[in-house]
Amino acid sequence: WTEGTQDDADNSLTELAALAETAGSQVLEGLIQRRNRPDPATYIGRGKVDDLGAVVLATGADTVICDGELSPSQLRNLEQRIKVKVVDRTALILDIFAQHAKSREGKAQVELAQLEYLLPRLRGWGETLSRQTGGSGRGGGAGGGVGLRGPGETKLETDRRRIRHRIAKLRREIKSMTTVRQTKRARRSRNAVPAVAIAGYTNAGKSSLLNRLTGAGVLVENALFATLDPTTRRATTSDGRLYTLSDTVGFVRHLPHQIVEAFRSTLEEVADADLVVHVVDGTHPDPEEQVRAVREVLAEVGADRLPELLVVNKADAADEETLLRLKRLWPDAVLVSAHTGRGIDELREAIEQRLPRPAVEIRAVLP
Ligand code: GDP
Repeated sequence: WTEGTQDDADNSLTELAALAETAGSQVLEGLIQRRNRPDPATYIGRGKVDDLGAVVLATGADTVICDGELSPSQLRNLEQRIKVKVVDRTALILDIFAQHAKSREGKAQVELAQLEYLLPRLRGWGETLSRQTGGSGRGGGAGGGVGLRGPGETKLETDRRRIRHRIAKLRREIKSMTTVRQTKRARRSRNAVPAVAIAGYTNAGKSSLLNRLTGAGVLVENALFATLDPTTRRATTSDGRLYTLSDTVGFVRHLPHQIVEAFRSTLEEVADADLVVHVVDGTHPDPEEQVRAVREVLAEVGADRLPELLVVNKADAADEETLLRLKRLWPDAVLVSAHTGRGIDELREAIEQRLPRPAVEIRAVLP
């Protein structure tokens, strides 16, 4: 379902397909429905559900992925109608984050986000049947009329309780890990080493750029979300000042709020930086939209008040006309190619100019 233009829908669906492939799925077919709002019961309209069912049968698909967040009941209704697994954008993104989390904190944060997503969606057969058919369905001996708890429901309650316990435990763990990280961060600011955060839309080339700038071997993947845990590298300016460069979590449009929540602490590190290097993919069909999406997330963690240096990457693959247009749109942006090295010296200089000068130097020039 989409409320935007055909182009928006196409871009969003292309991105969804890329996300699905990152998660290890094979994408068979895309289906778009234009409506003013999602159908409250089945997300897409009734007629479209039948079309979808036909596509599922024809292609032998075992999963349907919807480009939005489905309510628990929409998800259930759709599954009942088309008889295959239904996943929404949020679940898909959570899945990818789960696959890519490497640090202990990252793993704990993803698990927390997944459990919080799962909790309201947990349904035991006992409960569904007792609500819908007055409890005459399954009973496992308990029989039961309306309101009587079947064993399914009891099991459901146990599951819920177990999940809530786990959520509480994860929250505690994450809290203590955050404290450790904050201490490290405080040490950094005492040392007064300026910090540069590389932010940008997923796949814009942040890791590649970090490698270019520091010669470090960060994993570069042509997949969404290769970067989950921030990587920090040291770099020095031409006049020998030390600073750090950190790669940050990739951003996508409609980032599920659970993810923003889960990664708030990681993203908050961006807010502590002295400069945000915002990398834009010059080959993307809609770079402005990407910039908007990233700035939205930056604002959410309070990083929008930091100086921002826009960097249009992949200049080697973008057409000159687009590059000219972007340069007119963002006159201060630096055009680079992490692959060929074009514009990298200029970028280094632009970063150096924007780094805060250490206080000692300022004092040195005072009479
Ligand atoms: P990240 O998700 O922002 O960290 O992006 P990566 O650094 O992992 O790069 C994503 C994809 O873009 C990879 O396939 C890179 O090889 C490719 N890429 C990165 N920089 C450039 C560039 O300057 N030119 C071209 N043509 N591709 C690039």
